[in-house]
Amino acid sequence: MNRPNATCGNTARARDSLTNAPGPNPPVDDRSKNLGSARLAGTACAGAAVCTDAVPSPLPTVARALHLHVLGSGSRGNCALVEGPQGLIMIDDGFSRREVLARMHELDLNENDVRALVLTHEHSDHVSGVSVWVKRWEGRLFASQGTPDARKYLACLPFETFGPGEEFEVAGVRVQTFPTTHDVVNPVGFRFSCQGDAIGYVTDTGTLPPGAMSLLHDARILAIESNHDVPMLRTGSYPRHLQDRIISELGHLSNEQAAGALRELVTDRTEHVIAMHISQENNRPSLAVRALAAAVNAKLDNELGSTATLERSEGLPALRIRAAGQNRPISIL
Ligand SMILES: [Zn+2]
Ligand SMILES: [Zn+2]
Repeated sequence: MNRPNATCGNTARARDSLTNAPGPNPPVDDRSKNLGSARLAGTACAGAAVCTDAVPSPLPTVARALHLHVLGSGSRGNCALVEGPQGLIMIDDGFSRREVLARMHELDLNENDVRALVLTHEHSDHVSGVSVWVKRWEGRLFASQGTPDARKYLACLPFETFGPGEEFEVAGVRVQTFPTTHDVVNPVGFRFSCQGDAIGYVTDTGTLPPGAMSLLHDARILAIESNHDVPMLRTGSYPRHLQDRIISELGHLSNEQAAGALRELVTDRTEHVIAMHISQENNRPSLAVRALAAAVNAKLDNELGSTATLERSEGLPALRIRAAGQNRPISIL
């Protein structure tokens, strides 16, 4: 890990409690009521075992110390936030500052709680908001080696860089990285872990190499790219060379590829699968959800197929599948 020596130190600041603050806008997740006590437990306890002893829960074996907020996902902009006991870790920033703040406000999140920003890669739909964001923010910046240098406006910022496959800790969260395959310099995906809880996050990759599969496996929340439906892409308006690029190993995961991976990645612990980076031109959220649901025998919750659920035997959490949109922020608790 290379660390800058100037302005990029740990700027831990006094922050409002994320998890205790009541808000006028409850998170979108309709299970939020049930999870309130678990969120408090995750903040107050030193470890999952302590938490489960202290707070009676219908799902005593599952730690929920982390939450994922997707502000938007797709080729017009990407930004998500991992919420842990010590604050927020932003993944990518492909929106204007104004848009980020509006969407955070909608989810009752505070910009002062953002402790770090980590990048998956340098494509503009993931980094276009970074240079403005950092003007009024002092958290730590992380990117893989070569990523900041690939964009002029990133190269001058005090990034702490890591090699794909390396890991680091920030805001009390262990961040493991793995190489993805995309047409940029050293693209990565992440596994965030804290107090026995884990979030897997991968977008913008043409394949899922073994290292990715191993770190995405058995996460409680899995955000996985489900970019395109191959027949829609092949019969759509994109020129052939662009179709080929998207389908290539350096492009994006199709619904089919994501579904195939899901069969191996999902375990009894997995509660949420989020279809990410859905193409507006070559896919539909319902197509992605249907493909992912079929892979794990989940049932569609409605005729449209906007969400799906896999009920499990008593004592095990249900698995919910949904799609992250380009315009509507969602919270996964
Ligand atoms: Zn992208
Ligand atoms: Zn990309």
